[in-house]
Amino acid sequence: MNRIGVPRVQSLVSLRIIHRLRALERATRPEHPDLAAALARRWEELPESVRTPNQMLGRRIAGCEGTQGVFPACNLACTPCYHSREANRVRVDGDHTVAEVEAQMRLARELRGPSQHAQLIGGEVTLLGPEAHAAALEAMIRNGRKPMSMTHGDFDYDYLEALALDPETGRPRFRHLSFAGHFDSTMRGRRGIKRVRGEAELNPERKRFCAMFDRLRREHGIDSYLAHNMTVTPRNLDQIADVIRECRSYGFRMFSFQPAAFVGNPSRWKEEYRSFDDDDVWREVERGAGGRLHSRALQFGDPRCNRTAYGGFQGGRYWSLFDEDDPRELRVRDSFIAGFGGVDLDAPLPLAAARLARVAAREPRLVPRAVGFAGRLVGRMGGPGALLRKRPRAVTFAMHSFMDASVVRPAWEAIERGEAAEEPSVRAAQERLQACMYGMAHPEDGRMVPGCVQHSVLDPRQNARLAELLPLHDRGA
Ligand code: SF4
Repeated sequence: MNRIGVPRVQSLVSLRIIHRLRALERATRPEHPDLAAALARRWEELPESVRTPNQMLGRRIAGCEGTQGVFPACNLACTPCYHSREANRVRVDGDHTVAEVEAQMRLARELRGPSQHAQLIGGEVTLLGPEAHAAALEAMIRNGRKPMSMTHGDFDYDYLEALALDPETGRPRFRHLSFAGHFDSTMRGRRGIKRVRGEAELNPERKRFCAMFDRLRREHGIDSYLAHNMTVTPRNLDQIADVIRECRSYGFRMFSFQPAAFVGNPSRWKEEYRSFDDDDVWREVERGAGGRLHSRALQFGDPRCNRTAYGGFQGGRYWSLFDEDDPRELRVRDSFIAGFGGVDLDAPLPLAAARLARVAAREPRLVPRAVGFAGRLVGRMGGPGALLRKRPRAVTFAMHSFMDASVVRPAWEAIERGEAAEEPSVRAAQERLQACMYGMAHPEDGRMVPGCVQHSVLDPRQNARLAELLPLHDRGA
């Protein structure tokens, strides 16, 4: 090596070190810069009324997403059904699904940043073959989404195994699967029980659903997150509590309730859905949980749309993650939101630990507050003795209240014209749409559209177009 070469080698080494340090700094950043920008944009877009200290939208998450127009058909019949009457005239076609999911999720990644939750939803996901279903999930993961498949749960273990395993190697192609199972007595046509008179008759189906995922974990080491979805009507309102009591030990990690709305196919609107309100539903959920649900500690979007309560069970006793009446807990919540922002801890342990360290550095009050919080939480769980006897189980309760199509349509038209609606119910709908927590990506015009708008305004004409593109009489891919 000549004398001129020594400084060149030294500068190359320093460049490499600088490059590595920069890469390390980027990898351990509490949140991805694209997500930080998406959160800031989302916060700016929110109406003033929902920019409250407990608001998670625009600070912790950019919003949940759902796919649209990817497999509109379903082989069960629900009353109500949120899909348009044209949905079952569209053929389920794996190639169409995967191409659409890819395009929609690419746009969602661009607008909302990485690490966001997205539902593979439309009609019934298991009408897709396992290969197309797996390819759709892979497209979602590739685009930085955390996918959840929405299903009525009326499928067999063979299907689940074929979805979860690589057909060539027989090895798992997913480490983890998330599914939401929709089970309630408004549904007709399950193979095992065609017509259901009450919610209790569905408990064996609910149990069978969870047991399939338990078997998948035992046989292939693939873990899962299972949510239970239930539409609430005047007929099953008073059965909510029994569903929770009976099914909370089956393996569901979330119980989500959707008060029925006049959306979708009008020929499936069978009852007076406005004879009860959200408070009536929430009271029944609390009755089933056996304790007060602290839904005001954390808010996702507009409180008229969403309530969420984090907590769980210690044996038969319900505990709440936060006590929303205790100012100390609210300070922990504030530090949590300030420190964590959009941090994704779903990463290899050293990386997650490094991100945590940077979180603690940017919000130094978090650590002492978290210590006190942990002590109070253990107390709510029944004390250290109870924890030593039995592991607590986290269970989230949620309620998502869709709006009626009759208010969504004029509210959306007003938003599109850039006007504020005058009629109070339309104005309220407009505010809710502006704080929407559940959006669907539309690559054709490069924007996200609220789920209510998708079902109330866009689905009918979109499905009519799809029925021409994918008519039932052609064979699917
Ligand atoms: S989809 Fe509708 S009900 Fe749900 S958060 Fe959005 S506006 Fe609210």
